[in-house]
Amino acid sequence: MTIFEKIVAGEIPCNKVLENEKFLAFRDINPRAPIHILIIPKKHFENIQEMDPALMGEMLSFIQELARFIGVDKSGYRLITNCGENGGQEVMHLHFHLLAGSKLGWDRSSANPQSTF
Ligand code: AMP
Repeated sequence: MTIFEKIVAGEIPCNKVLENEKFLAFRDINPRAPIHILIIPKKHFENIQEMDPALMGEMLSFIQELARFIGVDKSGYRLITNCGENGGQEVMHLHFHLLAGSKLGWDRSSANPQSTF
């Protein structure tokens, strides 16, 4: 069981921001921005590649509601999901990072500029 499934099961605590019957948003333990919130489905999907597209639509509504709730829907935010090894995913339960609270930089140095596609 991943650490996020344990959070959903109530086995370990989280700093909850918003919740409904299908999704949960809580603060990242190691924030990389003034506001850094993780959004997860309660049902287990390893990552976005495995996610149910219909449920993904509901998750988008939840994320939009979250952005309004924390007051960043107008000022803006960044939404990231890391998928698999090359995507840098560490916790194998689908999650989105919502980063906000300041004008975020975008470090392109870690990306290989030579396109292979
Ligand atoms: P990723 O690299 O996309 O899998 O990101 C995993 C994220 O989960 C990291 O930003 C961690 O800081 C965060 N994280 C890990 N454990 C916890 C936890 N117990 N509560 C909140 N955030 C966590």
